[in-house]
Amino acid sequence: MAKTKEPESDVRAQPQPPPPFVGQHAVVEYFHRLGPHDLAPAYLFHGQRGVGKRTFAAILAMTLHCERPTSFPLGYCGTCGPCRRAIAGSSGDTILISEEFIREADRLAGKSVDRKTDVMGIETSRRIIQLMQLHSYEGGRLICIVPDFDFVTNDAVYNALLKELEEPNPGRLFLLTAQRPDRVLPTIRSRTTCLRFDALAESDIARQLSAHYNVPAERARTLARRAQGSLGDALADLAGEGVDLRGSARAWALNCVREPRKMSQAPALSKESAREDIVEVLHAARLALRDALSLALAGDDQVLDRAARSEYERTVAALGPDAAPRLVNALQAVNEAARIADETNIPPANVIGWLQVQLRSV
Ligand SMILES: [Zn+2]
Repeated sequence: MAKTKEPESDVRAQPQPPPPFVGQHAVVEYFHRLGPHDLAPAYLFHGQRGVGKRTFAAILAMTLHCERPTSFPLGYCGTCGPCRRAIAGSSGDTILISEEFIREADRLAGKSVDRKTDVMGIETSRRIIQLMQLHSYEGGRLICIVPDFDFVTNDAVYNALLKELEEPNPGRLFLLTAQRPDRVLPTIRSRTTCLRFDALAESDIARQLSAHYNVPAERARTLARRAQGSLGDALADLAGEGVDLRGSARAWALNCVREPRKMSQAPALSKESAREDIVEVLHAARLALRDALSLALAGDDQVLDRAARSEYERTVAALGPDAAPRLVNALQAVNEAARIADETNIPPANVIGWLQVQLRSV
């Protein structure tokens, strides 16, 4: 095979290997005992977002392809050919179903590419099947990583992949991830080995932020507390992602309960990602109401988002002696809104409208 030509003037930073994997001891131990030669044909990793499902899948794939692994399942060497290609994002034997992959599959199928979607359609599953029929490039097994499999709602996609999973092949491995395994069709679920990824310990998140993202210890602890078990959320928080949306969601939720007679500006959901945005809005609203409730019940110590403390104080003061039960009602309304958003196809903006009415009448 011809050696890959290096780019002419590569002034970009070298791609970095993923930081050491954190937590999920039960899953790591499970694979350690199993070893690399007795893997099932397909796994479904499930658990809340940001707890390492996709990262683990990527590292497992790297370790399986590594020429000199030091341990299993997390011991890829980082320097051999397959490792370097995986780190550079150009592994020939691992197929990651990313937005780019989905767009490319659409393009190859001659489908209009301006359709804005990050959820795989039948074109994607056909492309997966096509690629998984090929021979391994490095001589190991072909691995297909499909993140967020619970977002797939198209029966045709399920049926196409079902055929693949029905014929286990030692040369192929499927790694699916999902936040909600109950959303994955039972026929698919029953053909995979389901493994649960737990919420991460605050101390693990804080340590990871300090050790690998240069976050000062105190700030790392604050971010870890706020992230409620999700390293992904802590990193998004650190990067300032969604700060505006979360901030406006917090102000809106508190305003609704504090000044019900005033019409508060509801947070604006973007057209393309309204379903993701409403998850953020409800998450931020829940955190704010939870913090205000903690302040009312237990005082300052239990407040997670200390930057917003004065907003909580104003809210608790305005609600008066009934602050705690009213905030509990508000939290229940947010949970109910989350359930409606999750389980129905009611447009997110209407769910927000419904919640606004509830919050103003607690
Ligand atoms: Zn290696």
